[in-house]
Amino acid sequence: MKTEDSQPRQRLAILGSTGSIGTQALEVVRRHPDQFEVEILSAGTQADLLIEQALAFKPNAVVIGEEGYEKVKEALAETDTKVFAGEEAMSEVCAFDTVDTVLTAVMGSIGLKPTLTAVQHGKKIALANKETLVMGGALVQEAMTQSRSVIYPIDSEHSAIFQCLQGELMARVEALILTGSGGPFRGRKAEELQAVKPEEALKHPTWRMGRKISIDSATLMNKGLELIEAAYLFGVRPEQIEVVIHPQSVVHSLVRFCDGSVKAQMGLPDMKGPILYALSSPDRLEESAAQTPRLSLSEMGSLTFEAPDRKNFPCLSLAEAAARIGGGMTCVLNAANEVAVAAFLKGEIGFTAIPALIVRNLEAAEGAGAAKRGRDLQDLLALDGETRAAAREMIEKNRI
Ligand code: MG
Repeated sequence: MKTEDSQPRQRLAILGSTGSIGTQALEVVRRHPDQFEVEILSAGTQADLLIEQALAFKPNAVVIGEEGYEKVKEALAETDTKVFAGEEAMSEVCAFDTVDTVLTAVMGSIGLKPTLTAVQHGKKIALANKETLVMGGALVQEAMTQSRSVIYPIDSEHSAIFQCLQGELMARVEALILTGSGGPFRGRKAEELQAVKPEEALKHPTWRMGRKISIDSATLMNKGLELIEAAYLFGVRPEQIEVVIHPQSVVHSLVRFCDGSVKAQMGLPDMKGPILYALSSPDRLEESAAQTPRLSLSEMGSLTFEAPDRKNFPCLSLAEAAARIGGGMTCVLNAANEVAVAAFLKGEIGFTAIPALIVRNLEAAEGAGAAKRGRDLQDLLALDGETRAAAREMIEKNRI
């Protein structure tokens, strides 16, 4: 019989290794070399950082976007690391026999296909890509029933809920309560939001995050996407999920049970906690206080909570509405949001045009029967593409 000490290391494929979550995941691996080894690293455009990571972690293979291929290939020519290029390769490596766990930390809709492939091949998934479940939640659920794949959430809110649910029966859950910091514009009115610049929106008060998610946090769409994700992850109805604004980001989320009891999971805001728990669960690995500073409630003094401002930040309600209609509507929501956020970051549209653009796309898509779309990957990707084209056209024709 194997003892705990002789257990083989968990072999990881990290998709999006050069991004915010990816680099933090590699920090976690570096701290626990006896537990984890890096099998695959995948990045989009940051060839130099990927090369540096490959030299340090010596993966079996790396995947880079087409444009960076020659550079990475040349830099790793003297090593044993194989180099692949493109989105298709990112899905293929997820099926490798030598991969135990696929950590999906790429941003946006390109996360869906590789994650679905990993699920179909029975891999353990550590999921940081929201779009996978927002776009293809039903498809992923279906694939999971046919393989032995399990999804462990990396998002701090979902990790908190997952931790609160340990040892509990799902049938006794009354509500999931997602907390959100409220973003950098909490307390501002729609008139004041009209002229805000991308730089202001990128300054998140408590969390260190990528650009897209920082804007989603500022519009509260991030919480809306998390609500949709939570419904699929934990198998609850969207109506069972509540949102409360908690600016200190210490209570990461809560679960209320049928007897009125509420459990919360807490900690200082640091994504390495959820990353580590997704990889080690149900076990916990030791982190020193120097590595993970301990929460001191007495130093914290007070924690505050308030209702979300749905009037000035309508994206949350838009996401709830899309989740309740279901089908392809959350895919439409996500695609329109990605186009809107990219346009805002480029200075093409204002901050308050983000929800306006999403509303117009949701209405048009619902009228065109989107709720019944997306039953297979091909149709889902088609719906995603159609929505993006429609949203781009609205921006270019100045209809927002
Ligand atoms: Mg989150």
